Amino acid sequence: MVRPDLILEQRRVASPPTSEPQTRAEALAIAARALRSAEHVCVLTGAGISAESGVPTFRDAQTGMWANFSAQQLATPQAFADHPHRVWHWYAARREAVRAAQPNPAHAALVLLAARVSHCTLVTQNVDDLHQRAGSRDVVALHGSLMRARCSAGCIGSTEPDDTVTTRAPNCTACGALLRPDVVWFGEALPPQQFETARSAAVACDLFLSVGTSNVVAPAASLPWLAASHGATVIVVNSTMEGQRQGPSVLPLEGPAGVMLPRLVEAAFAGKRTRQREQQGGQ
Ligand SMILES: [Zn+2]
Repeated sequence: MVRPDLILEQRRVASPPTSEPQTRAEALAIAARALRSAEHVCVLTGAGISAESGVPTFRDAQTGMWANFSAQQLATPQAFADHPHRVWHWYAARREAVRAAQPNPAHAALVLLAARVSHCTLVTQNVDDLHQRAGSRDVVALHGSLMRARCSAGCIGSTEPDDTVTTRAPNCTACGALLRPDVVWFGEALPPQQFETARSAAVACDLFLSVGTSNVVAPAASLPWLAASHGATVIVVNSTMEGQRQGPSVLPLEGPAGVMLPRLVEAAFAGKRTRQREQQGGQ
């Protein structure tokens, strides 16, 4: 049975009144202090961090031959049931865009961050592999992987699609059913284990870092506020704060992730040795 709380959907969240505006430098200094003293950091990334690497967001990719297709026609189980080859072709085109892209300074800053804090959980809503290619390990991928495929009849695990052969959905070598992208479509449930890992990290962390996400796609959008309700400080790094929830425990850092994250990590850990060096130093 599918758990309704894990269903992928767009949701608008209400924004409480705006708090006192701060200058960016002040906000950065406050956020850096919070990050420096954090024991467990939970990071949630979204489309914005990939867009800065040139990976088009879902909407931005809907150009050219895809301009007249809605998300409902490309990213739902029904779309695949009705037009499997069209859907496969759309994802093959998106894989091509991801392969042409490189991780950016924001991805690199998150690798550095993981080396500087005692415990870091990296959760992503992105289906590309830029975090992994930057060097992040144990990435919790809530929405699956664009770079993998699986049997639509569910008989085999994840496999790597061969895009050099065809833009048509290939057949499963075990049962003959069509392969589908190993991503979570609208109306489908998130992988329960991955979401539970993310939820536990949001509850346990003392600092939650939201990067490049508008926080409107449920259920991932609930994570920062779950963290805040358990006493964590929430730092929101995004190109716009429009639609983001605000409150006393939320520190907004408006700007590109590729600029703001390296600054934040540098400001937080300048002069602080990495965990490995501290352990080797034995003091
Ligand atoms: Zn199969």
